[in-house]
Amino acid sequence: MPRTSDQTSFLCAGDSIQIGVETASVVTSTVDITSPLPEYDVIVLGAGFAGLVAARDLSCAGVKVLLLEARDRIGGRTYTSRLHGQNVEMGGTWIHWSQPHVFHEIHRYGLQDQLKRSVGTLSPFHGGPEFVYSFSGGQLRKLTNEDYEVRMKTMMEAFFNVDGALGRSILEWPHNPSFDSVDAKKLQSLSAKDRFEQICEQFSAQDQDLLSAMLAAIGTTSLDKIALYDLFKWWALSGYTVEDFFAATASFKLSCGTTELARCILADFKGDMLFNSPVAGIEQGSKVVVTLKTGQKIRSARVVCTVPLNVLHNITFTPPLSPKKLSASKEGHVTKGLKVHMYTKQPLQTVFTSSAPPQPLTFGFTESHLPSDGGTFSVFFFQNDSIDLTSPESIARDFTLQIMSGTVIPDAVAPDAILCHDWTSDEFARGAWCTFRPGFGEEYFLEVRRREGRVWFASADWAEGWRGFIDGAIEQGTHAAREILEEMREASGKVRSVL
Ligand SMILES: Cc1cc2nc3c(=O)[nH]c(=O)nc-3n(C[C@H](O)[C@H](O)[C@H](O)COP(=O)(O)OP(=O)(O)OC[C@H]3O[C@@H](n4cnc5c(N)ncnc54)[C@H](O)[C@@H]3O)c2cc1C
Repeated sequence: MPRTSDQTSFLCAGDSIQIGVETASVVTSTVDITSPLPEYDVIVLGAGFAGLVAARDLSCAGVKVLLLEARDRIGGRTYTSRLHGQNVEMGGTWIHWSQPHVFHEIHRYGLQDQLKRSVGTLSPFHGGPEFVYSFSGGQLRKLTNEDYEVRMKTMMEAFFNVDGALGRSILEWPHNPSFDSVDAKKLQSLSAKDRFEQICEQFSAQDQDLLSAMLAAIGTTSLDKIALYDLFKWWALSGYTVEDFFAATASFKLSCGTTELARCILADFKGDMLFNSPVAGIEQGSKVVVTLKTGQKIRSARVVCTVPLNVLHNITFTPPLSPKKLSASKEGHVTKGLKVHMYTKQPLQTVFTSSAPPQPLTFGFTESHLPSDGGTFSVFFFQNDSIDLTSPESIARDFTLQIMSGTVIPDAVAPDAILCHDWTSDEFARGAWCTFRPGFGEEYFLEVRRREGRVWFASADWAEGWRGFIDGAIEQGTHAAREILEEMREASGKVRSVL
């Protein structure tokens, strides 16, 4: 299997660290930038899920498209690696049938039989972890799965029940922010901490830690930095119940890997592809001129820019991006935590574990047990700034210390392998999934989404529905392609639609 040249992904096994991980997401360019390229109808910038879908939909409708990507691979913040015969998701992972755009794509490519559950996720009525651990009051507390679920149900319902209807009346239309009520808009400026403080006194200190760990996991940061609106959005989109919240956000994944879904979309794309080509500038006149970091220029009539919020400001736009869009990108979203996969030859208990800020771990769980040699895969998410991101060595060292400290899982076991992509140090992401700080949505949401001239902006980071999810990326790519096709049809009436 090929290995990505992404410099912030690595496999650490024993004393050896290999930069770049094995993945089937590495793809070869179909055009060579050293020879002159034609002028395109549309350049789609970024081959994550937003870009892949936009490029496929446009090209299938007869539009001449170039898919242009900084990395050597597709999938962006979502791609699959492999270790010991197992698929390992380096970024985006869990999907659910309540996520309409991604599930539509899963069905389109016949992958609906490929769903599987991560074994240690919280799954009321379906097994789940043997035990739940929580570091609280200076010790690792052990609960049964049932006990944990009862406590979380009580606390989460108290948290979201601001309207006597478990949030149903305050955020009635979670896929359509333009329908937000006055009360829903108020959630934008409040923080998760504001609401937590209103309800926390009814619960013991240890249970408060359980709840704040769960809420902090949504942004891998402290509750004061997470918009209350974002929490309500996840809750409402999931179906306003604790059971559906766990199921929709972190339970089911594709056994074939997310890269298989990305490859299916790419297989239907009918245009040109250019990888390893970071864009430095986008200049608009009667055409758009896209300048690569190498200085080469490519022309098109329109651009779909799917570059993530946290790095959009690194591209020089002429005329400049609107001042508000630029400020939004410079500030960025807040999720800058770390996801780390651990493989141990020693079989471990099936567990879920969590801890509240300022503990480094936010949450983690058993992913799978290997039937062949009895080893265990586990995944852990750490708070922003809690692990030293200076180098793969520092990440592996800090991670191992955490695992062996007795604050994360009961077994003080040393990892036999660590797989990680440090998205915060990644120059083409500078963060993981999108979570807004209080007030950010009110200030910037409409502006970051707004088309500027011949450039459309499409990213999971400003999706209307599942913002910050694979589903949101597909929503955005679909919309951008549709709008461009409509505009082109109006202009010429010549574009063939097969959508
Ligand atoms: C650790 C982690 C865990 C996650 N967990 C989940 C989950 O369980 N479920 C879920 O649904 N979502 C999850 N997400 C979120 C999900 O992965 C993202 O929301 C989604 O993949 C974003 O897709 P996108 O196409 O909008 O952006 P991206 O995937 O970021 O794609 C943008 C593309 O633009 C490229 N690019 C950037 N700058 C340039 C440039 N200058 N020139 C050329 N190209 C450029 C990038 O290389 C990238 O390929 C997770 C994300 C992370 C990182």
